[in-house]
Amino acid sequence: MSNLKLLSKILRLKTMRITHFCFKNREKELHLAVKPYKNGCRCPKCGRRGRIKRHTTELRRWEDLTLMGMKTMFWYAPKEILCPTHGRVQEEIPWAPSYSRITYRLEWRICALCQIMTQKAAAEILKMAPSTVSGLLHRIINRVRDGHKIRGVKTLGADEISFLKGRKFATLVYDLDRARVL
Ligand SMILES: [Zn+2]
Repeated sequence: MSNLKLLSKILRLKTMRITHFCFKNREKELHLAVKPYKNGCRCPKCGRRGRIKRHTTELRRWEDLTLMGMKTMFWYAPKEILCPTHGRVQEEIPWAPSYSRITYRLEWRICALCQIMTQKAAAEILKMAPSTVSGLLHRIINRVRDGHKIRGVKTLGADEISFLKGRKFATLVYDLDRARVL
């Protein structure tokens, strides 16, 4: 197995291929040049493959989960493509939301940690400044909530349910007029 393949397996990379790696900052950071699988070129809005319009030279960087305490960074220059429906767009980045500077899995980890500990403690584990964690958390929640707006509710209903054999409880809130879970 080649070094790149081994590294890719250790990091459990599913949507990209590593093309190059190096250590930086006295081996406290692992930097990876990556590429989306199958050459990417997918439209972020509809997922269809588009023709390459332009190879950008603008390298972007994403922070990923730490590996044995080492910060891991991905580098890639996204391409501009021509989607049959949406026209000129920047190709979808399978490992991160658009405009984000961190990967989906790091976002997930920040949310998971902040649910069970203070943001300060989470920042310590994530090797980030507490203000960075707080800012990222804010952005993630706002983005996720964007597609989930609660408007025009007239009659509210609420229920308590238990799960995990009664060890955990959740409160469900309904919009009774439209029979929807909020
Ligand atoms: Zn499209």
